[in-house]
Amino acid sequence: MAYDYDLFVIGAGSGGLAASKIAASYGAKVAIAESDLVGGTCVIRGCVPKKLMVYASHFPSLFESATGYGWQVGKAQLDWEKFITSIDKEVRRLSQLHISLLDKAGVELIPSHATLVDEHTVKVGDRKVTADKILIAVGGEAVKPDLPGMEHAITSREIFHIQSQPKHIAIIGAGYIGTEFACIMRGLGCEVTQIIRKEQILRGFDADIRTQIQEGMVNHGIRIIQNTVVTSVEKVENGLTINLSGEDSEPITADAFLVATGRTPNVEGLGLENAGVDLVTTSLEAPGYKSTNAIAVNEYSQTSQPNIFAVGDVTDRINLTPVAIGEGRSFANSEFGGNRRVFSHENVATAVFSQPEAATVGLTEESAKKQLGEDGVIIYRTRFRPMFYTLPNQEEKTMMKLIVDANTNKVLGAHMVGDYAAEIIQGVAIAVKMGATKKDFDATVGIHPSSAEEFVSMR
Ligand SMILES: Cc1cc2nc3c(=O)[nH]c(=O)nc-3n(C[C@H](O)[C@H](O)[C@H](O)COP(=O)(O)OP(=O)(O)OC[C@H]3O[C@@H](n4cnc5c(N)ncnc54)[C@H](O)[C@@H]3O)c2cc1C
Repeated sequence: MAYDYDLFVIGAGSGGLAASKIAASYGAKVAIAESDLVGGTCVIRGCVPKKLMVYASHFPSLFESATGYGWQVGKAQLDWEKFITSIDKEVRRLSQLHISLLDKAGVELIPSHATLVDEHTVKVGDRKVTADKILIAVGGEAVKPDLPGMEHAITSREIFHIQSQPKHIAIIGAGYIGTEFACIMRGLGCEVTQIIRKEQILRGFDADIRTQIQEGMVNHGIRIIQNTVVTSVEKVENGLTINLSGEDSEPITADAFLVATGRTPNVEGLGLENAGVDLVTTSLEAPGYKSTNAIAVNEYSQTSQPNIFAVGDVTDRINLTPVAIGEGRSFANSEFGGNRRVFSHENVATAVFSQPEAATVGLTEESAKKQLGEDGVIIYRTRFRPMFYTLPNQEEKTMMKLIVDANTNKVLGAHMVGDYAAEIIQGVAIAVKMGATKKDFDATVGIHPSSAEEFVSMR
């Protein structure tokens, strides 16, 4: 049977864009549907605008450091409207760039919402089209808990568009999105209260990393309310009252309230049941949330319907842009390039763009000890004040940690909290992915003076 397309991709985000261009480069006839701005979460309302906000939030602390080096710094002030408008402009420029890259690759863009009619048919806008293969790359969306007053809360989708700078922002969520925005807003000069359900932020990260970031955040003036949940939100004359229950149940008043407690795959209304695509249940693990569904896939990102594939956040494996891109590329190379390969989800490096910044690759101390036993692991750790902070006499600390297999000497994990952690760990991740040993690290000559040299001189 002849189909309209060899491949139809639903969702022009990180995974869909990567897969569609590679499939087209092998000569496949490809179309991609997008119901919003081309670029997806990362470009439009995730990594990119967030990182621009991170950069902006660093300036006040840099101005403070500059005085320690003899600079006289005048009174600095943030023009919020200019700041938000500039970010929006950059995001739209990138979206246009992705449209032209699709065009150059010969991928047809259909700017409409798409749903599955059957395993080879997609309804897109008011058309029905057929395709030999279909790739679902619809990503995920932030969800709010089912609590009274949540209509007054914003999510990470809206935070890039708030019209004036809040004086006090309250944030619920201990994950990387809540933590990053707590640091961004604090850096930009807001009063910030972060409400977390347990003792510590960033569950799943190495315990030393969690402690170090949390201490750093508190040092920067962020109030973290531990072991506490939000029960309701009310609009009052001077903003919002956020009612709490737990260790600290004193209500707080803020003028913005960010919910960052979880994201759910965009599977609702997609017509998966029409095409025989199965779901798996995952859990958001937060109060007021129901468990959620992701598309079930095998290691080739193939769903229960053999001609339909899914990549990225909709499969809820590792929800990061480079992973969505890697899964999308592997799919396209396997299905259209005659180069069948599995994307490796092992040793994926990741960063938390908090203040202090953190980055990590490989096993945490806890997971390594669980796998190899207490005596099976050697831990190397260093904590110091980087040279940059000596003249300004600022109390900023960097921490680095290596997790080493006691039997094979292999480095199983590398973790860092401190300036440029993401930039440094990216290089270390290559060594960890290649299976480097601690002896290989020791045999590497450091770059002096730098913080990164500590990774090759820990004894
Ligand atoms: C605030 C925030 C910060 C983040 N920061 C980072 C970071 O620093 N580093 C990092 O690696 N990752 C980060 N992420 C995660 C990253 O953005 C995602 O992992 C990545 O975008 C997933 O790509 P995807 O292709 O699966 O989906 P997406 O990029 O979400 O793309 C899905 C696209 O599908 C479209 N769509 C949905 N349904 C339909 C439909 N039925 N028809 C047509 N189109 C549809 C959507 O509009 C969207 O454009 C962040 C996420 C958020 C929310």
